This record gives sequence, C-alpha cells and structure tokens, in this order.
Amino acid sequence: MIDQNIRIAYFSMEIALHSSMPTYAGGLGILAGDTLHSAADMHVPMVGISLLPRRGYFQQQLSADGWQTENSVSWTVEDYLQEVGPRTAISIEGREVHIRAWKYQLNSRNQNSVDIYFLDTDLEENSDYDRSLAYFLYGGNSHYRLCQETVLGIGGVRMLAALGYSGLQRYHLNEGHASLLILELLEQKRRQNQGSDDPETVRDLCVFTTHTPVPSGHDQFPLSMVSDVLGAEYSLAGCEDNFCFDHKLNMTYLALANSRYINGVAKKHSQLSRQMYAGYCVDSITNGVHAETWTCQPMQQLFDQYIPGWQLDNLSLRGALNIPVEPIQKAHQLAKKNLLNHINQLPGTTPEKQMEEDIFTIGFARRSTLYKRPDLFFTDLKRLQAIGEKFVRLQIIYGGKAHPNDNQGKLLIQKIISVANSLNKHINIVYLNNYDIALAKLMTSGCDLWLNTPQPPMEASGTSGMKAALNGVPSLSTMDGWWLEGCIEGLTGWGIGNTAVSTTSPPQITQEACSLYDKLEQVILPLYYQNQPGYLEVMRHTIALNGSYFNTERMLNQYVTKAYY
Ligand SMILES: *Cc1c(COP(=O)(O)O)cnc(C)c1O
Repeated sequence: MIDQNIRIAYFSMEIALHSSMPTYAGGLGILAGDTLHSAADMHVPMVGISLLPRRGYFQQQLSADGWQTENSVSWTVEDYLQEVGPRTAISIEGREVHIRAWKYQLNSRNQNSVDIYFLDTDLEENSDYDRSLAYFLYGGNSHYRLCQETVLGIGGVRMLAALGYSGLQRYHLNEGHASLLILELLEQKRRQNQGSDDPETVRDLCVFTTHTPVPSGHDQFPLSMVSDVLGAEYSLAGCEDNFCFDHKLNMTYLALANSRYINGVAKKHSQLSRQMYAGYCVDSITNGVHAETWTCQPMQQLFDQYIPGWQLDNLSLRGALNIPVEPIQKAHQLAKKNLLNHINQLPGTTPEKQMEEDIFTIGFARRSTLYKRPDLFFTDLKRLQAIGEKFVRLQIIYGGKAHPNDNQGKLLIQKIISVANSLNKHINIVYLNNYDIALAKLMTSGCDLWLNTPQPPMEASGTSGMKAALNGVPSLSTMDGWWLEGCIEGLTGWGIGNTAVSTTSPPQITQEACSLYDKLEQVILPLYYQNQPGYLEVMRHTIALNGSYFNTERMLNQYVTKAYY
C-alpha cells in the first residue's frame, strides 16, 4: 500500500542503508541514508529513490606495496530488497529501456518507516548495454553516467507515478546527479497544459542541495550527447546562459535554475557557493549524521542510562554534561578495545604493528584524494618521530578508498603505507583495507582523536568528525567545512592553522603542519597523559555540544522548515 500522504521524494545517486549493501561510495550516500533514517524517526513523509548498483562501488584491495586495485562486489539483491510489481520505461537513444524497482523498508525504532526504491534496468527485454546501467556506481565513462542519470532522473519520476505516488509536493535533489528529473517534470507539465510551458510550477517543486566546490563533482555533458541520449522529446531550447555553457549541459546549473530552494552543506560552503553561482540565493543547512546509527554500543548503553530517549531527541544529548567522566572513559575504552582487537587480529598485523590500549591513538579515514591531504601529517617526519619518542609511542590508524580513476589518490595511499613501514618504533601506523560503514563505526568510536586535514576551502562539510563527536572523540582539524562551526578550541577539540576564519590568503602547508605538530605535542598529548580529567572533560563536551547538534535530526528539521514547508 502506498501512503498517499507522502509529500517529499528524495533523489540520490547513492544511498547507504546497511553495511552489507554496497549501494554507496562515501559521504554523499551515508548522508542520504542518515537523512532518510531521520525522516522515519521524525515522521517526515518521504520516499527515497536511487539506482541499484548490482556490482557495487568496489571492494578495495591493497597490495604489499600499497597499490589499490578494485574488485567488483557481489551481493544478493533479494536478501535485502523486495521487488515491486509496477514497471516503467524510458527512451535512451531511441531504445525503449524498461525499469523495475526494488524496495527497501527503512524502519525506525518508533515503528514508523520510510520506503526507498532502487531502480533496476537489468531486465531481459533490455539491451546488454542498458542492462549494464544497473551494475556500477560511478563506473564507466561520461556516456554511461549520463545514461544512469537519465534512469535516475527521468525513470525515477515515472517510477514514482507508476507506484502510485501522486501529489508529491517536493523533489529533493541530493546533488546534481538527479537534475534530469527537472526535464521530466517540465515535460509532464507541458503535456498537461497542451504544449505550454510551466517552469514556475516545476521550480516550486524542486529543492537542490549542492555538496562540493570541487569541479569534478559537477557533471557536464556535451549537448550532442544529451540530445542523442534523451531524444527530441526533451528540448533544451533556450538553455544557453541558463544551464548550458560551452555546448555542455551543466547538471548543477540545471538544478540551480529550476529549484525554489538551494542550499550548501555548511555555512562556509554556502558562502563559497554564493560566490561560485553569482545571482543564486544559496542558503545553508549544515550536514549531520544519524545519532543512533553512529553511536557505538558502549556509549549507547551509557546514554540510555543517563539520557533515556536520546535516540529520538538528539538535543537531549546536551545532558551529557551531567554524566560523570568515569563511565564515559569506561565506555570509550571498550570502544577502543573493539577497534584495536579488530586490527590486532587481522592477518596482516605483524607483532611490531600490534596496537596497545594505553597508547594515544589517532584516526584518519576518508576518500583518498589530493585536497584531503592525508599526508599533511607526514610533512616533517623527524618532528613527528621526535613527538612519538617524547611520549613513548603514537598509534595512527588510516583508512579510505581512492576513486578508481584518481591516480593521485592512489599514490597518496601508497605513500602513507610506504612511510608507515619506514618509521621507527615510536610511530605505529596501519592502513586498514576497504573502509566501509562497519569500519567507519569501529574507527570513529575507537580512536582517541579524529584527525582531518583538508585544504580550505575544499571540504564542503565532512561528517566523520560528527560520528566521532557522538562517541566522545574530539577532532583535530584544519578550519574548513563543519569544523568552522563545531570547533570550540580546547572544549570540543582543536583547530589546525589559523583558527580565525580567513578569506584572504590560504595558509602554507608547512605552517599548517607545524601547527598540527604543535597542537599535538604541546596541548593534546600532555592533556591526555598528564591531565586525564582534562581530556575526559573535552570528550564530554564533544558529546554535549557537537553530538547534540551535528545530527540529521537537527538537519532534517531545518530542511522541513526552510525547504519543504
Ligand atoms: C562517514 C563516511 C564517509 C564520509 O566521511 P567524511 O568525513 O565526510 O569524508 C565516507 N565513507 C564512509 C564509509 C563513511 O562512513
């Protein structure tokens, strides 16, 4: 039965729902899954739409010398998703492409649920190429991507209609991958109005969230390719200077030009987006994470004891200030033990790489790519080793995949693994293979400090530090993305570099590295080893100030009041 009251359709190229479902690549998919989970918690009438990736994103394999190779993932779709009856079809290059849908029912702890549909073209009646559109997330070339986005945008709107969703009041485009839905809505209105356009009505239906200032995150397709794929039905006449530039369809501008509400994912990112997209009003809703999902078991038990009901009332986590520090320390040590046991039992962990529970442990995990600078920590190896020696030993746990086409990202992984093998016994570094939801849960709860070193202003938001915060793990980060809002120096963590917000000259790498080492050596490590109550106080404030705020409950409330109302 379709709930006729569903009013918001949430479109996303990736949605992370379950650790064994490879339907996500990284942060964007995690955010989508967390958002829909909060929608279920909060009775926000939403339905999710995505593409089925039968062979996943990829499984990362790291060779002994640290080179990443990718294997496709195999999973049994039927184990997680239920096929639904209605089908639809779209036209790609004049071929009729049939689409079916698989449903995931996301259940909230309060018996409410949200349905999410994964679109699937792997049907006998389709050509081999069209079937393959349901294989790889972010795979293939630009043409493959355009065809997938056609399935998501145009196929998605049609599938929702076929499923019986009528009267949808908002279409939320989680990034520009879904922008073609706008062309389908415009075309629908044209049919309804006997050929006359109604862009204002369509505009009033659409909400657009942009997620990155990095150019490669914004799809553009040659107009000739677009007209081949979509056919004559979808006219792009009049798109010049609007959302087509240089004979290319720009998916970001297609969404910008046709959405009633546009937002960036942190205050700084929105500010930057307003500069990038002059003339558009870009509001700001800072990202969050689903609190219950990302809080480890020992912390959950503690919160249950002191702040009952916190799962559906995340604001109440401010009450963490009333939890005594001893049980916080106990819960954290259990989480740390879980992480270190996991690492120590891995076949590749040699005796000298064994991790110890009483040693300060830093975590760093995210997509490996240049601007995230996972190697900033290695700028001055002599200094790093001296710090390790001064405090006997430091443990650093790395993780993260590079996009298959990002050679520089792969080289960075190789560099970290090679440096890790060259350092003396005072610095123990491991790089964990195949960073995914399960590993992210272990890492963000089990480390003592969460490190992030993006090059400002490239990090739109970042969310792993928010997961850490819910687990009482403070961050040490360059001043970018969410951390500009989350950092209260010495109370929720520490900033790297010039912590005053600078809009002029970007800081120098050596200055930032120096600041990173200074904070570690002079502030954080002395606090951890010589003033345990002081460190626990930071952990407690991290939960109370940042866990209570940087969650998808607060975030979705803002979408409801600013974008969906
Ligand atoms: C949270 C998460 C990310 C995104 O982390 P960022 O800090 O935003 O880079 C990526 N991958 C996985 C598996 C995650 O859990």
